[in-house]
Amino acid sequence: MHYVSTRGIAAQDTFSTILLGGLAEDGGLYLPEHYPQISDAELNQWRTFSYAELACAVLAKFAPDIPLADLRALTQKTYTAATYCNTSGDASKITPLQELEPGLYLQALSNGPTLAFKDMAMQLLGNLFEYTLDKQHAELNIFGATSGDTGSAAEYAMRGKRGIRVFMLSPHKKMSAFQTAQMFSLTDENIFNIAVEGVFDDCQDLVKAVSNDLAFKNRQKIGTVNSINWARVVAQVVYYFRGYLSATTNNSQQVSFTVPSGNFGNVCAGHIARMMGLPIAKLVVATNENDVLDEFFKTGKYQVRKSEQTYHTSSPSMDISKASNFERFVFDLIGRDSARLLALFSKVEKTGGFDLSGAPGSDGDEFKRIAEFGFSSGKSVHTDRLATIRSVREKYGITVDTHTADGIKVALEQRDNNVAMIVLETALPAKFNETIREALGVDAPRPAGFENIESLPQHFVVMVADAAQMKAYIAGKTGL
Ligand SMILES: *Cc1c(COP(=O)(O)O)cnc(C)c1O
Repeated sequence: MHYVSTRGIAAQDTFSTILLGGLAEDGGLYLPEHYPQISDAELNQWRTFSYAELACAVLAKFAPDIPLADLRALTQKTYTAATYCNTSGDASKITPLQELEPGLYLQALSNGPTLAFKDMAMQLLGNLFEYTLDKQHAELNIFGATSGDTGSAAEYAMRGKRGIRVFMLSPHKKMSAFQTAQMFSLTDENIFNIAVEGVFDDCQDLVKAVSNDLAFKNRQKIGTVNSINWARVVAQVVYYFRGYLSATTNNSQQVSFTVPSGNFGNVCAGHIARMMGLPIAKLVVATNENDVLDEFFKTGKYQVRKSEQTYHTSSPSMDISKASNFERFVFDLIGRDSARLLALFSKVEKTGGFDLSGAPGSDGDEFKRIAEFGFSSGKSVHTDRLATIRSVREKYGITVDTHTADGIKVALEQRDNNVAMIVLETALPAKFNETIREALGVDAPRPAGFENIESLPQHFVVMVADAAQMKAYIAGKTGL
């Protein structure tokens, strides 16, 4: 199994060689040369698998260069009841389906350590990184910026791992109290929380400024764990299989998924599961007010927005106007023509978008193939989220978070008769308590173990947004 870049380098790269990297050398994203296919017999066999066994089976198709026994050990170590079940202790409860009403399910993906679906992939990444670095006798310093979910998932995945340090920037005093407490209460020696005087964009600019110094980056062995990381995408493919197998009794049945989306990483994994042959009818992309993707899946026009045109919403992990994984899907949509892909995304750099609607003057007509790929979309706004959180509470007796509410709102509009619809739950409501209070007038339930998290001692440094000072800080900690 070899990996290619969407922008044309016909690299002979393997899973292990792209694991620690980000973008391909030509600026594109990695995809396998062909999607491995799953047979009817295999799918039947997988029906009896534990989550860890399923993860091993899926991963083996994409990472044949890692010995199967090692993959098995890594997935068994990652997908345990202790990590994913919040004390229930029953490993069969990893990503369980809850039936809300006949034909409508919620798949619980947020029972990991940071209470968001990102733990599903990030925990595996932590173990894969440690395994690979160990073999290479190498070390890695992860350097990134977060406004909440990604940074905490990365820290909880990498804490205590040999050969890895995490330097995570966040805007000083701008994350929710819960998210701040989650990150800053960690005491592991390899985790460095840096609160930057400024907003999230200042943090991101600082990461760019430091990473653009290639000599520094190489000497300090700087890497990232952002959502384009291929191993993260593959790890997310697993729960689409799990959701399908839990909702069906035989392989002639189809299901649809609705996915609250930001960087298109989660739903990209659904696309890959479908390309592998999993019987998925529809993949419904749910956005909030930042509806660039909804616009594309309705019209064929892709028009990114600048950060000043990106709204701060009550589903903040979806406040993204340039979805980093979208290029992977466009590559498949246009028939994997990398020269054309490069032209389209160069146009995005120059003019902010492209148009595949087939209208006179457009850049192509591939949008007419969208149904072949099963995609459709919808959006919600703040008042929709409040109404959905309330009606879900009343009708089904559960409290959902704001991102999951975006998904449920759109799923109800896009549901077809006779096809089960699975909504992916992307976070627990405790993380976004302010909006839960606004919707319901009461606090979101707190999972066991998180009761007093805000009162734990916090470990962080405050720094101004200055690249030279940041470099000195990192070098001081790594000794490199
Ligand atoms: C990251 C995140 C999303 C968006 O997922 P993408 O893979 O970026 O599309 C949605 N909801 C929550 C809670 C998240 O943390």
